[in-house]
Amino acid sequence: MLSMKDFGTPAANTWCPGCGNFAILMTVKQALVGLGLRREEVVAVTGIGCHGKFTDYINVNGIHTIHGRVLPAATAVKLANHDLTVIGFAGDGDAFNIGLGHLAHAARRNVDMTYVIHDNLIYGLTTGQTSPTSKKGFVTKTSPRGSFETGVNPLTQALTGDASFVARTFAGEPQHMTEVLKKAIGHTGFALVDVLQPCVTFNRVNTYQFYKERVYKLEDEGHDAGDFDAAYHKALEWGDRIPIGVFYREQRPPYHTSFPALKDGPLVGQPLKPDVEKLLDELR
Ligand code: SF4
Repeated sequence: MLSMKDFGTPAANTWCPGCGNFAILMTVKQALVGLGLRREEVVAVTGIGCHGKFTDYINVNGIHTIHGRVLPAATAVKLANHDLTVIGFAGDGDAFNIGLGHLAHAARRNVDMTYVIHDNLIYGLTTGQTSPTSKKGFVTKTSPRGSFETGVNPLTQALTGDASFVARTFAGEPQHMTEVLKKAIGHTGFALVDVLQPCVTFNRVNTYQFYKERVYKLEDEGHDAGDFDAAYHKALEWGDRIPIGVFYREQRPPYHTSFPALKDGPLVGQPLKPDVEKLLDELR
């Protein structure tokens, strides 16, 4: 069995000290160790943003793809080899700006993967602009009088899209985060985990303190994750109290099981058809 150290890399970490990304990195490694996964069994797919360095800092297979395209790349990996454990990482800008359309399709298809949102409610890499999940009234250099738009709610988006596992956790609660990630990675189907990830450099509103005063655990209040209506109701709660935990979970067949071409096993294990060499010969 591997240890946390086995999932580390020698790459120098350039995240700001105190960034919530550190906790996500640590707890993802803990979850992989806890689930007994080997490095070669896991693929991490990242988009563009501070979170994108994740593939440099974790020793598994990795694809650092382009802005907003984590889900198409992750879906392709899963269809090519559905024996792999696929985890997509995206920032709130990445996931809910140009990447938003992909969420609905990955969710309804129930692509068997985990989608971790590094949700700091701001664009960090580009030094502090209003992001799709920023709340109304949020002041940044691009909204100096306060954002006049309603922020995207990652949880209601996932629930409306028919995601079979929807959760939220907080970077200031590492034990909770590890447990939620283990459940999400162990889930068969599309699992979205929205992580409240303070950006200590640019977001001076949604800080560790802000969340510590507000978060509470759904599991402490007897929430039934099988009840869609209750999950949706809880997903709308954001104010003096902010729920974290597993909001919704259901079992239904994952996407790759509906493909006739995959009934004999992963594509990577099947002989190439048609004969590529023969085709190439015809072109020579
Ligand atoms: Fe983290 Fe914000 Fe620094 Fe990016 S800018 S590394 S999100 S603290």
